Amino acid sequence: MGSITLKNVRKAFGDVEVIPGVDLNIEDGEFVVFVGPSGCGKSTLLRLIAGLEDVTSGSIQIDGKDVTDAGPAKRGLAMVFQSYALYPHMSVRKNIAFPLKMAKMPEAEQEKRVAHAAKILNLDSYLERKPGQLSGGQRQRVAIGRAIVREPAAFLFDEPLSNLDAALRVNMRVEISELHNNLKTTMIYVTHDQVEAMTMADKIVVLRAGNVEQVGSPMELYSRPANKFVAGFIGSPN
Ligand code: ADP
Ligand code: MG
Repeated sequence: MGSITLKNVRKAFGDVEVIPGVDLNIEDGEFVVFVGPSGCGKSTLLRLIAGLEDVTSGSIQIDGKDVTDAGPAKRGLAMVFQSYALYPHMSVRKNIAFPLKMAKMPEAEQEKRVAHAAKILNLDSYLERKPGQLSGGQRQRVAIGRAIVREPAAFLFDEPLSNLDAALRVNMRVEISELHNNLKTTMIYVTHDQVEAMTMADKIVVLRAGNVEQVGSPMELYSRPANKFVAGFIGSPN
């Protein structure tokens, strides 16, 4: 579970067309990176998939089911926000359990899921701490834990590492890739960082002014860029 299909998805804010029309197929279990310069529409496209914005026209399917008019809660996807979105007054345990508590899940099931997420993320010994007592990397893992417990069909990341320092960013990249290997759940990862895209993706979607310039593996984009923009952006010699 976790295939996502966009058919001629268009988004305008008032008179301003931000996404002129995108067709895209994401397969179950893929690690897909949306990359492109600031303002090209990466966040908007992700928010359309999440259901946080309504499409102006076009359709979105998840696992073959049309969700174009469904709200975010009905889509079974989890958006991972940056670590500063944690509740500072709540323990790690409570932060991770928060979406389950909101969904009124039975406590025993909540505990089971939190324990599972904590194990995957190496947070077992930090569950009673407050976010302020954690390192930046641990805080980011708590933010990811909050997504894992929901057992989503796909994880959606919007530049989750942009407020971490360079060394930590490299570590977290590896951790998120390992998490994907471990869970094998579809992940869509938005970044403006070409290196992040090239090192993490199964499939890269290069965006420019709301248009998909090229979709391909890192190797395909590097060796056969569709145009000068892709070549320049990816840093390919062609
Ligand atoms: P990116 O994430 O690639 O930096 P965004 O998706 O945030 O780009 O933005 C794409 C374009 O859409 C920008 O020009 C931005 O100003 C515009 N935009 C985004 N959200 C809104 C909104 N709610 N209202 C009006 N314009 C918006
Ligand atoms: Mg953005």
